[in-house]
Amino acid sequence: MAIKKLLIANRGEIAVRIVRAAQGLGIPTVQVHSMADANSLAVRMADEAVDIGPPHAAKSYLNIDNLLEAARKTGADAIHPGYGFLSENAKFAQAVEDAGLIFVGPRPETISRLGDKAAAREAAKQAGVPTVPGSEGVLSGADEAKAAASEIGYPVMIKAAAGGGGRGIKIAENETELAKLVAEARNEAQAAFGDNALYMEKVIRDARHIEVQVLGDGTDAVHCFERECSLQRRRQKVWEEAPSAALTEDQRQAICESAVALAKSVGYRGAGTLEFLFDDRSGAHYFIEMNTRIQVEHPVTEMVTGIDLVQEMIRICGGEPLRLKQADITLSGHAIECRINAEDPSNNFMPGPGVIGKLGVPEADHVRFDTLLYEGYQVPPFYDSLLGKLIVHGPDRAGAIERMAAALEGLTIEGLKTTIPLHKVLAASDAVRANAVHTQFLEPWLAEHPIAPE
Ligand code: ADP
Ligand code: ADP
Ligand code: MG
Repeated sequence: MAIKKLLIANRGEIAVRIVRAAQGLGIPTVQVHSMADANSLAVRMADEAVDIGPPHAAKSYLNIDNLLEAARKTGADAIHPGYGFLSENAKFAQAVEDAGLIFVGPRPETISRLGDKAAAREAAKQAGVPTVPGSEGVLSGADEAKAAASEIGYPVMIKAAAGGGGRGIKIAENETELAKLVAEARNEAQAAFGDNALYMEKVIRDARHIEVQVLGDGTDAVHCFERECSLQRRRQKVWEEAPSAALTEDQRQAICESAVALAKSVGYRGAGTLEFLFDDRSGAHYFIEMNTRIQVEHPVTEMVTGIDLVQEMIRICGGEPLRLKQADITLSGHAIECRINAEDPSNNFMPGPGVIGKLGVPEADHVRFDTLLYEGYQVPPFYDSLLGKLIVHGPDRAGAIERMAAALEGLTIEGLKTTIPLHKVLAASDAVRANAVHTQFLEPWLAEHPIAPE
């Protein structure tokens, strides 16, 4: 049941990435777009384009009926959801299957089980994977929250079971704060995710974010090693690397084995990522969540393993068994990705749309720029601010940082403010060069090292 025509239910740089992957496999593509995206690069590159509605995502990219109608009209037999939007929506995956189409992702049951972050913790425990000390399942109310917190020890994190994108997370330092924050978190989770379920975790201070890429075909699963994404702002990743320079070989093996154990225990299909916190001091890793989709930072893994993750997920979901054996997957060198956003790092990361003037992209074998931009393109104001991802590969971490510094010098995006100046400062900083970072490092550091306007 190989895929004959692929519809891309997404936009931006990931839509471009998926069109390229499909082209490489000889699969024709259908790019859906909102009215605001009629001139997007993905629309220009795809074989066909279908207008699915007004700019507001709820009326277009999140409109399941319109997406299925676009597939019916064009004869597409498979849908790739990308990341964000409907990519982790079990109802959408089910509707795609009910329409007789292939969903390029896990089975709907797997998404339900792992997409609920409290349920995913239980699945991890059952697979013998260490989780952050925290509540058993979701919190019924303020009393249970209090009891759980006094057992775990403050500070604690209150998280929305349906949360994502760094949102829906609050830290309580003591019992007085807890009651207030639980009530607030419940209201906010209901408004943001349509689901008010909460759970609790101990705050692991100054930990690193290390995540493991997996591929599964429903029967077998392999890992493609790890990425480190400890440089974060508002719990969103800013700079990502593969592999993590913080792990010993034994620690690498342990965290990757945990990931495969969970992937196998749920019969995972497609590409997925298991996120962990890693504590340098003890060497322990703790599962936090699984993203049941392709991730923004997947290219650093592609650079160090030579695997095209998007092509692999398309092949697997089209019915092919996993082609890769664990022993065939090896690491070579070091890769870094910088997220280039339409935000002004010298002005509190204020987002701002604009029209792209001159676009200068560094060209070298070891550099990749995944982007939605072209000269003259008007960046619409309705969607997230990611303009592109600059990715470099080097022989080792120090070499990759040098190449990133050079690549950033060679990247010119005129017409709007971008986060390029932030990345130049990071690439030159002692802390990044020494890899002396953790998930709470960047925000206070930025307060002390303000980014000058360019
Ligand atoms: P990654 O680990 O791939 O970087 P992120 O958590 O940064 O993933 O999310 C990728 C994209 O998906 C971002 O644009 C983010 O805003 C969006 N996203 C993730 N989860 C959700 C969610 N539950 N609701 C809405 N958007 C989400
Ligand atoms: P999301 O679904 O929004 O991606 P995650 O649960 O993956 O949320 O957490 C996002 C980030 O928040 C992590 O990368 C880390 O920086 C921080 N974080 C999450 N859980 C904890 C914890 N228990 N202790 C400390 N930091 C945490
Ligand atoms: Mg996460």
